Amino acid sequence: MAQIIDGKALSAQVLQQVASDVALLKDEHGIVPTLAVVLVGEDPASQVYVRNKIKRAREVGIGSKEYLLDANTTQNELAQLIDALNDDAQVHGILVQLPLPDQLDEDAVIASIHPDKDVDGFHPLNVGALAAGRDTLVPCTPQGCMIMLHQAHPDLSGKHAVVVGRSNIVGKPMAMLLLQANCTVTIVHSRTRDIESLCRHADIVIAAAGRRELIDADWIKPGATVIDVGINAIEIEGKRKLVGDVAFEAVSQVAGAISPVPGGVGPMTIACLLLNTTRAVTRQLSVEHGA
Ligand code: NDP
Repeated sequence: MAQIIDGKALSAQVLQQVASDVALLKDEHGIVPTLAVVLVGEDPASQVYVRNKIKRAREVGIGSKEYLLDANTTQNELAQLIDALNDDAQVHGILVQLPLPDQLDEDAVIASIHPDKDVDGFHPLNVGALAAGRDTLVPCTPQGCMIMLHQAHPDLSGKHAVVVGRSNIVGKPMAMLLLQANCTVTIVHSRTRDIESLCRHADIVIAAAGRRELIDADWIKPGATVIDVGINAIEIEGKRKLVGDVAFEAVSQVAGAISPVPGGVGPMTIACLLLNTTRAVTRQLSVEHGA
């Protein structure tokens, strides 16, 4: 039976670190790190995500400002809000909850956030910095996966990692971080041939396809580490349940270590968002002081 990589417990450790960073920023600089969260429309899943992020922020002493905008908000209206938040010295991190309604150009919105306030790490400058191996604000989900992986493998050097999925939010930044940790990285996606055999050769599999229980036990090398990013809602006997991209019961008989859904990557993502908020403050302070 595989070791369970407990995202809930690990995220509590990260949040403890964030809380002590927040206390230090208050003591030494009189700063209350503050996160602005912008939600356009009334998508129920997005509402839940936003509520959780704000709740966790408050628990660690991070201030929050919530902007709930009408589903019909125009590009110009959203741009004006982001400009104002960029200019507001009391706001250190800006998060625009995705996806946005169809009339809004997501890329333009992301690019309009100041890179030093881009706590999601999606701004093209931060994406480029990550690809170039520079210190930057890194997307939260892959950052959380790396903390989880380090728990199973203190040294990732030379490991073969397969990342299932190539999205800008998870797959691609995940691959960059694994490369930085000296892994040999394969990215697979919906057009890849024979994904199973590629996965079977991997020491590490990161599942981020958004396909319910896509990855079964015969895809996994005995002893491999499996991180399940997927969140898929299913209904069993009228009850809503979340499952990952990995067939947990079967794969945990083969893998050496595995993260569950729920209680795995989800809590780590929020913890890393708050970690990024304190990092954003530090970046802004160092710019202020000309470092
Ligand atoms: P996207 O839909 O943007 O990307 C999915 C990727 O998986 C695409 O690259 C796609 O390939 C690939 N893919 C789809 N089907 C298959 C398949 N059968 N075999 C191989 N590859 C496949 O999703 P995201 O990256 O945004 O999210 C992935 C999953 O992670 C979702 O379930 C999402 O809910 C979850 N998630 C969880 C988070 C957390 O905090 N735990 C945070 C973010 C996401 P192609 O490019 O060819 O279409």
